[in-house]
Amino acid sequence: MKKSAALHWLGTLMLGITLLGCQSTRQSAAERDVLFQYATLSGLMAGGFDGEMTYAELKQHGDFGVGTFIGVDGEMIQVDHQVYQVKADGKAYPVAGETKTPFAVVTYFEPDHTLALDQVMDCEALKTEIDHRLPTEDLPYAIKVEGTFAYMKTRSVPPQKKPYPPLAEVLKTQPTFEFQEVEGTMVGFRLPAYMDGANAPGYHFHFITAERDAGGHVLACQAQDVQVAIDYTDKWYTVLPTDTL
Ligand SMILES: [Zn+2]
Repeated sequence: MKKSAALHWLGTLMLGITLLGCQSTRQSAAERDVLFQYATLSGLMAGGFDGEMTYAELKQHGDFGVGTFIGVDGEMIQVDHQVYQVKADGKAYPVAGETKTPFAVVTYFEPDHTLALDQVMDCEALKTEIDHRLPTEDLPYAIKVEGTFAYMKTRSVPPQKKPYPPLAEVLKTQPTFEFQEVEGTMVGFRLPAYMDGANAPGYHFHFITAERDAGGHVLACQAQDVQVAIDYTDKWYTVLPTDTL
């Protein structure tokens, strides 16, 4: 990235922080276009499986997102103002507000662009189709893919005890789940290369069925007849955990 572009992004980030600091009873559209994250992915990868932020607090920053739970006890999916936990049995459970997270990413989902895709295509082709519609690779995007999937493969994670291992060790024994001809919603983000470490560049999707009873972190999929909605998010705000200080 050129220096001027970096300064532009720094300015945008600072503007986002300033806006979040304003006291107001009604949030402006600008405040709602914030990608809000708690903790960093690199911290989670290193075994930072504890955190202080509750899902009740997180809901004040968005109605749509992905994340995990204390001890990496499953995969989090937030959609339509509801937070779900897909546990290691592959089933989805509603999440109480006092439940805490070690890592989560949310935003208020307000689509800027939508498209319908009614051809069978795998996840990689789906991502390429979405890529073709994006105005730039340098913005974070929240993405919802809703409809019928010919195939879906997800994983979840069993809860870990202290001392926590690195996440890569945990994922070696991840339980996986397969769905055929399933209706549901993929909730996720496409993030720019410069967010590496703080988060993961590229696409990251979680899935939940239309019945909201199963899902997980998406490993593979085949979309069949889906609506794709993309929310451009031009601010990025991160709260870092202090529980280990
Ligand atoms: Zn995930």
